[in-house]
Amino acid sequence: MDILSPIQYVKGVGPRRASLLKKLGIDTVRDALFYLPARYEDRSSIKKIAALSCGDVHTVTGKVVKTELSPASPRRPRLKLLSVVIADESGVLAAKWFNQSYLAKIFKPSQRVIFYGAVKANYWGSGFEMMNPEFELIDDDDDEDADYLSAGRIVPVYGLTEGLSQRQLRSLIHSCLKGALASISDPMPEDIITRLGLPGMKESVEAAHFPPSGTSIIALNSGTSPAHQRLAFDELFTLQLGLAAIKNKDTAEKGIPFAMTGELTSKLKEKLPFKLTGAQQRVISEIMENMSAPRPMNRLVQGDVGSGKTVVALLAMLGAVESGYQSALMAPTEILAEQHYLNISGMADCLGLKISLLTGGKKDKDYESIASGEADIIVGTHALIQESVEFKKLGLIVIDEQHRFGVMQRAVLRRKGVNPDTLIMTATPIPRTLALTLYGDLDYSVIDELPPNRTPVSTKVVRENQKESVYDLIKKETASGRQVYVVYPLIEESEKSNLKDAITGADALQKKFPDLRTGLIHGRLPSAERETIMRDFKNGTINILVSTTVIEVGVDVPNATLMLIVHAERFGLSQLHQLRGRVGRGAARSHCMLMNYGGSADSRKRLDIMAKTNDGFRIAEEDLNIRGPGEFFGTRQSGLPDLKAANLLRDYRLLDIARKEAFELVAKDPCLSGHSKLRNALEDFWGRKLELFKTA
Ligand code: ADP
Ligand code: MG
Repeated sequence: MDILSPIQYVKGVGPRRASLLKKLGIDTVRDALFYLPARYEDRSSIKKIAALSCGDVHTVTGKVVKTELSPASPRRPRLKLLSVVIADESGVLAAKWFNQSYLAKIFKPSQRVIFYGAVKANYWGSGFEMMNPEFELIDDDDDEDADYLSAGRIVPVYGLTEGLSQRQLRSLIHSCLKGALASISDPMPEDIITRLGLPGMKESVEAAHFPPSGTSIIALNSGTSPAHQRLAFDELFTLQLGLAAIKNKDTAEKGIPFAMTGELTSKLKEKLPFKLTGAQQRVISEIMENMSAPRPMNRLVQGDVGSGKTVVALLAMLGAVESGYQSALMAPTEILAEQHYLNISGMADCLGLKISLLTGGKKDKDYESIASGEADIIVGTHALIQESVEFKKLGLIVIDEQHRFGVMQRAVLRRKGVNPDTLIMTATPIPRTLALTLYGDLDYSVIDELPPNRTPVSTKVVRENQKESVYDLIKKETASGRQVYVVYPLIEESEKSNLKDAITGADALQKKFPDLRTGLIHGRLPSAERETIMRDFKNGTINILVSTTVIEVGVDVPNATLMLIVHAERFGLSQLHQLRGRVGRGAARSHCMLMNYGGSADSRKRLDIMAKTNDGFRIAEEDLNIRGPGEFFGTRQSGLPDLKAANLLRDYRLLDIARKEAFELVAKDPCLSGHSKLRNALEDFWGRKLELFKTA
């Protein structure tokens, strides 16, 4: 058996079983070896039924003697109780399940079974029973290994698919271990193994499936046993190695050493109505240093909502323009692109530059001004990466709210220039160690200071029956000249749900406040109309702006001081934080009302966190806890490989070590020419994604 053999050719696996295994992502022997158990059960000792003790978790085996399905009680005739009695040489035990009638068919008389669960005395005190035990069927035609693999030890429990049993998968993995473990090679350099005292690769793979007796079941089930940690380390190391290689390649590439005369940037700084914060100044100088160097810049700038990322981006763009290049700013939504366009045009008015806006449905002359170099700064959406868009001399790309873009889109835009510098802005406050994973190929700056005179937004969770108090607040804020956002989860009424919607809501508010002007904005309006509405809200003609989440990112109207989020329970934490970030942008005290129409305990928890803190980092961490890293980051979009053994939350310390080791290694041996095994592992792990990153 070879580690790369198709699983179908392993003894006992035919085409049918192979297709089931494929569903689990197991195509080869190696896939099977790295298909880790979902959890473990300690079935080290199999008890004789007569020797059981109440209150403990035990494993027993026996033969089914009786299966009975009956109403659970006379008062609840529809609730069915299934009772399965088994016997071994010493006695009998009943296992019971409520409302799982379908199990009755499985437990036929004389079927041999294993039960694993907490033991208690039965109603009469005359014997033992288990409620909802874990169970396994022992089939006579099972592999001879199956028995000793499934009891009398710590037993792996795998994620299954229909048609495949635990015992079959255990036997299969066991025979793969027997046949191919010896040919697994350890790609980790010897010196790293010794320095970190890592356990061996082979023994770790084996122990992850069939832990030696005495291994802590808690460690196994939390993925912190030495074997798990070794496998997690390998994964994180390979991940970081890929990022290190990409970064190294970028640094080796020739970029544009911008001259940056300061002509435009210093003019803008003079005209700004505010003084830059210390954090903004620091980040700008980090950017300028990159830009003047003869290597392409790849920098991520993270700053909480309202920290002032736009002006930082603008200064960088001016730096490129004053050096004779064009700059492009790509935003994830048309509304945001339009707003950036208005903002930047406003700020750069006095500089005599040509700023253009490129969103869907623009005309030839827009393309021409970009291609001829007439346009200095181009603001747009995805429209920027269309094939028909050509730049004269693209020097700097700014990507706003990067989490909305995949690695691919970044790559395409970059190819429109010759190794242009790239600046990526994000408000997603990622814990530092995690940022290193996700953006390990990028330099990283944080704007960790809000502009002065901001009072934190006060947040309250309200119920529908407190609507009047919300109306009062709307009245009060608008009476003192302030503006209001009202956000709905839907554009219009839908038959599929009974959620409140923006169109109906806008009507109702207009009627409720006939003296005020209510505007409505959502993604389905034509962009010209949206531009007008946004402009009217910005200049104060509209008092109440009703919208969907289209205003989630980036919209900036400092005079808006109240945000009402209807059906707040329908939104995720980070989304709520982004939405709330639309208020609290000026010196006046702002409010955020989260209207809760009931929901799960989880949603209640989210709303409480919102009410408690304004700190984006805290909120992101809670969000990460609630949703898990996969969903939090949207792995699909990030373009990173999936992690199987490692968990970014649990293993953040390992991640730090892995990163350090990986970057050191790549610094010493950039092409990994002295580490061919490692290079293969890298290609296996990253696959085509590495190609993709290379062009990024
Ligand atoms: P974000 O980081 O969320 O993109 P913006 O760039 O939209 O934030 O800035 C939020 C608001 O703060 C804008 O109105 C902007 O003009 C203002 N602002 C930015 N920097 C400063 C500063 N140093 N002092 C005062 N106000 C600032
Ligand atoms: Mg912004």
